[in-house]
Amino acid sequence: MNAFDYQAPRTVDEVLALLREHGDDARVIAGGTALVTMMRQRLVLPGCLVSLRDVAGLGGIEATKGEIRLGALTTHREVEVSPLLKERLPVLAETFRRVATVRIRHMATVGGSLAHADPNQDPPVTLMALDARVEVRRAGGRREVPLSAFFRDYYETVLEPGEIITAVTVPLLSAASGAAYVKFLPRSAEDYATVAVAATVTLEAGGERCREARVALGSVAPTPLRARAAEALLPGARPDERLLHAAGEAAKGEVNPLTDHRGSAAYKREMTAVMVGRALTQAWEAARRSIRGP
Ligand SMILES: Cc1cc2nc3c(=O)[nH]c(=O)nc-3n(C[C@H](O)[C@H](O)[C@H](O)COP(=O)(O)OP(=O)(O)OC[C@H]3O[C@@H](n4cnc5c(N)ncnc54)[C@H](O)[C@@H]3O)c2cc1C
Repeated sequence: MNAFDYQAPRTVDEVLALLREHGDDARVIAGGTALVTMMRQRLVLPGCLVSLRDVAGLGGIEATKGEIRLGALTTHREVEVSPLLKERLPVLAETFRRVATVRIRHMATVGGSLAHADPNQDPPVTLMALDARVEVRRAGGRREVPLSAFFRDYYETVLEPGEIITAVTVPLLSAASGAAYVKFLPRSAEDYATVAVAATVTLEAGGERCREARVALGSVAPTPLRARAAEALLPGARPDERLLHAAGEAAKGEVNPLTDHRGSAAYKREMTAVMVGRALTQAWEAARRSIRGP
């Protein structure tokens, strides 16, 4: 690892000032689970690490007006065990529980997971299906970016130099809605997904037909993505075999996976179709339970 200066600011303004002062030579560090590995592999050689760990106001999980706000420094483990999320948005707690091992979940953060932009990660998939928004700060300003427009390419986001993620805002599901996260990982329980799918389904009054659905995919393209063609088939439909098959086939046409040690591109495409059907079935069931009770 290269020698570096380590700064531990206490406020977001101090972080932003340090980033401005050091320019390209600076990197923020949150949990360090990805950045330290990249530094050891000499893929990045920052001269200055700006730690977020002592920065006030970047942690915490709060419910506000129909939304949940996750501070950027919230750890995966905090999301996984949050009583608020288990009650109000269990799919999010469940998704973060599926990440790696408990040791990694104690360190890795919500902001780090998004900024790292590895398309094989779990949280971005569910956050995208839930229509989350990323809160970004820079010196003298802030902006909010829909997560569906946040990723640009492998390990690349729309964050500009000098910007950091301060929080992620997640709308709660409306009435008569359900959500599910399906992580297909045939190798070991702590591996990255071979294919990951998150789905939400909102039912029409009466509870039989779908009013709206969102489907997000991970591990099958340079970025996590919404399966818009699959989503378009769902409003007004009932969840029969034909529909689920058609949605899976439509999603298959939207992916662009790599062949790697987790499977060939062709295999991942086939498994996308299967997992989309599974995630929609589970989300549909959850939506029905939300109307009728368990
Ligand atoms: C062995 C192993 C297995 C893993 N398996 C999985 C898995 O199955 N599924 C999964 O989802 N994840 C998995 N992870 C975690 C994941 O790959 C990342 O390591 C993790 O999400 C990064 O979070 P962090 O807080 O540690 O980020 P860091 O390592 O601190 O930072 C990562 C990048 O994000 C930037 N950054 C961090 N915070 C911010 C911020 N607030 N604003 C702007 N930029 C920021 C840093 O500058 C750096 O470029 C695994 C990690 C390891 C080491």
